Amino acid sequence: MRYYVLDRGDQLSIDLSQKFHKLAEERGLQLDAESPEIVVSIGGDGTMLHAFHTFIDRIPELAFVGVHTGHLGFYADWQCEELSTLVDYMCGKSDPAPHKPRIVKYPLVELEINRKSGTTSHIALNEFTLKGVEGTVVLQIDINDETFEMFRGDGICVSTPSGSTAYNKSLGGAMVHPSIEALQIAEIASINNRVFRTMGSPLLLPKHHHCDIFSRREQRLMLTVDHTNYPIDDLISVRCQVSEKKVSFARYRPFPFWKRVRSSFLV
Ligand code: NAP
Repeated sequence: MRYYVLDRGDQLSIDLSQKFHKLAEERGLQLDAESPEIVVSIGGDGTMLHAFHTFIDRIPELAFVGVHTGHLGFYADWQCEELSTLVDYMCGKSDPAPHKPRIVKYPLVELEINRKSGTTSHIALNEFTLKGVEGTVVLQIDINDETFEMFRGDGICVSTPSGSTAYNKSLGGAMVHPSIEALQIAEIASINNRVFRTMGSPLLLPKHHHCDIFSRREQRLMLTVDHTNYPIDDLISVRCQVSEKKVSFARYRPFPFWKRVRSSFLV
């Protein structure tokens, strides 16, 4: 089994990372930065976002495992003190052996940015957002090539199901089970009065639909894709849809989504 470890960079995560390498070597796992089968993220959900984007070109060929250095996370289901058990599971030395992981696949959002200066493509694990840098943004939202609304406000957030518990949740979006192949469009502080009107509710689009967001005036925007920010001052439009690609997580034991939601936000 070829593996790679990415940590958050704080002392605890670095120590755990070193401990992981030691345990892995003892049990015959092979460290491979180029073509790992399993990528272990040690830190938090934010660290998983970094791990995902580090291996963005190899997403279909590998699976992720997350170790959380604080409370349990949405992408990180193992705790620090369980490192040895995790390595045992990964090398099939668990009891009862061998322990094959269940590979769960989560939907992703793909976006194409059309600028006067060219076109780029991205994939988001949590979400992408388009926000104003200098105040109100004006964006035309088209769904399946039909104009849906003209948006005025702080911005728009388009999230994946697994990202629905992150920024999207703060915007009043619904939490969506990752088995549902959909993307969610949530408004960030829309202006609604007699003159300007938006739907005001988050929208859930199925896999076979697409959405175009057109910049409708000269404006400086900030595009965020998960943890990364891209300033843009020549945006024409963004096309987004549920990606054909999915991210894989290796589950060596059950980690039900609704249990995670409850333990993160309620108890
Ligand atoms: P950060 O601002 O340092 O941390 C954002 C927080 O979001 C962390 O507590 C992180 O958990 C948590 N998180 C990340 N993905 C999550 C998920 N899928 N479900 C529930 N919580 C999640 O930024 P960062 O660590 O680089 O993460 C970037 C993410 O921050 C973005 O993708 C966006 O979702 C989120 N964000 C949220 C808001 C908001 O809620 N108002 C605003 C901006 C960005 P850990 O502590 O386990 O890493």
